[in-house]
Amino acid sequence: MKYKIARKDGNRNAQLSGALDETFEKASDELLARLGDGHVVFDMTGVTRINSIGYHQWVRFLKALSAKATFELEACSVELLAYVNLLPVLSFASRVTSVRIPYVCKHCGKAVEPSFQLEEIDEGGATRPLICPGCNGIMEAEVSVPSLLAFRDAEGG
Ligand SMILES: [Zn+2]
Repeated sequence: MKYKIARKDGNRNAQLSGALDETFEKASDELLARLGDGHVVFDMTGVTRINSIGYHQWVRFLKALSAKATFELEACSVELLAYVNLLPVLSFASRVTSVRIPYVCKHCGKAVEPSFQLEEIDEGGATRPLICPGCNGIMEAEVSVPSLLAFRDAEGG
């Protein structure tokens, strides 16, 4: 797991990249020391895969961080949300602000994974219509969006 910290709009922006696995423990100590207080925006775009060891370290890290800072989680992948859905409260599901949803075009097979803000996805899981950049066809989500966002109900909104 690698990370990059930058200042952005008065917040700290932490870009994570690589696997969220047992290698996160070392990074998490450094991150805690470097992030300090204030508000942290985690950009999860670069997280390639997750295992349960890494995920447990991640939750422990967020708990420690929440004692001194506030944070939000941007561009969460389907894999990360599967973990969040297992234990929404412990996972700080309420801090998820945007999610990446894989879409595929039924006509030409093109695949994309755009990021959606949670507030632009309605309760039934409907998102804005996505037009295929290859053939202008309508693209469809490859996953069930309501199941992906099940943690929203678990938290009571
Ligand atoms: Zn297409």
